Amino acid sequence: MYNAKSMKAEEFISDEEIKATLAYADANKDNFEVIDQIIAKAKLGKGLTHREASVLLACDNEEKLQEIYDLAKQIKEDYYGNRIVLFAPLYLSNYCINGCVYCPYHMKNKHISRKKLTQDEIRREVIALQDMGHKRLAIELGEDPVNNPIEYVLESIKTIYDIKHKNGAIRRVNVNIAATTVENYKKLHDAGIGTYILFQETYNKESYEQLHPTGPKHDYAYHTEAMDRAMEGGIDDVGLGVLFGLEMYRYEFAGILMHAEHLEAVHGVGPHTISVPRVKRADDIDPEAFDNGISDDIFEKIIALLRVAVPYTGMIISTREGKAVREKALELGISQISGGSRTSVGGYVEPEPEEDNSAQFDVSDQRTLDEVLNWLIKLDYVPSFCTACYREGRTGDRFMSLCKSKQILNCCHPNALLTLKEYLEDYASDDTRAAGLAMIERELERIPNDKVRDVAKARLADISNGKRDFRF
Ligand code: SF4
Ligand code: SF4
Repeated sequence: MYNAKSMKAEEFISDEEIKATLAYADANKDNFEVIDQIIAKAKLGKGLTHREASVLLACDNEEKLQEIYDLAKQIKEDYYGNRIVLFAPLYLSNYCINGCVYCPYHMKNKHISRKKLTQDEIRREVIALQDMGHKRLAIELGEDPVNNPIEYVLESIKTIYDIKHKNGAIRRVNVNIAATTVENYKKLHDAGIGTYILFQETYNKESYEQLHPTGPKHDYAYHTEAMDRAMEGGIDDVGLGVLFGLEMYRYEFAGILMHAEHLEAVHGVGPHTISVPRVKRADDIDPEAFDNGISDDIFEKIIALLRVAVPYTGMIISTREGKAVREKALELGISQISGGSRTSVGGYVEPEPEEDNSAQFDVSDQRTLDEVLNWLIKLDYVPSFCTACYREGRTGDRFMSLCKSKQILNCCHPNALLTLKEYLEDYASDDTRAAGLAMIERELERIPNDKVRDVAKARLADISNGKRDFRF
């Protein structure tokens, strides 16, 4: 029944295979011979299968766990260096006809305020985001063919790309909309989107159907097969995610790795990113109502093991998590974070009062983007607003080969420094600017190729002289 190359959801995410994987993991969780073999394979930096990674997830031997955490940190350093890419979500509309029981936008929620931004309102939101320093957005909309048709999404993307305000520009729009048709994915591709993001929420079909009792999202196969349709429509970069807390985390962990294996087997390229949201409090939603919540310790273990299992996949954590959890997650494998986020429709221009709340979840990390950058720099991470690959057409397998050839220090690193410099010139507080400029001086010396380093220095000088938008 299980077949990674099948195009049928229930065959590439086979419930039988996941249950067999969990049984195998339980049977081997204290078998140090097997565990050592898996860790030795992981050290080669080429990833692990869902079965292998599941054994490590089941293992609770302190010594082995420490080895796994050290390895996750090493792989993160080898493939991503000390860069952290920043983005912000932009909520365009919270109209939705689905019945997802964990989301306050579900159709039956009559007291949440419903909003859909006009193109003028989008312009104002994007200018507010540009004035913070953002270059990369993820747009979010509920599913509603009447209020949020594909034409609205396409028009909004065009509006966002067209806004030129002072030195600001949104250079990459990632899109998080409901599962749709190949034809619509083609339209999104033609509109120049970055990553198409769609969270599976849960890979367990039975739970999935209970958690999505009504609306088009109820259809497990249509939702699970969406990434194949997106790729058929020409979108190379897709972002996976599950909502931890809905189902047993070990089931989800095996499921998401099987989904990654399926994409690699069928399309020759794995997911561009994996997100790791946990269920959070929101209007109408009490996270205590879901009995599969995971502790911070388990959450960190999942992040470390995903890093080890899929080294080439970027990993994202949002402001759903607070500062302390985010700090630990950065160390163990996260390569992309949101900053200064508002999760309500129109929230960047006007933060919403309590009684008129349209937010999808409560933000735990309430810091401004500048505070987040300041924190990153002081932790010795280089904040990056780089969007070079997508704009150079290095998507899908071309992006993967850049990652696999470990050209990060000659490509991503100088790009990070150039985009950081733009931020420091245009948006930073005095303290962040001073810390950032000192960081750039230090980090320039880490570029191995002399020629690349010289070009980077020349471009940094150009940025001081008012020029913008350089990339390697
Ligand atoms: S999770 Fe998405 S589809 Fe479900 S109710 Fe919320 S906005 Fe709608
Ligand atoms: S160069 Fe490409 S892979 Fe590197 S940070 Fe920029 S967009 Fe990402």
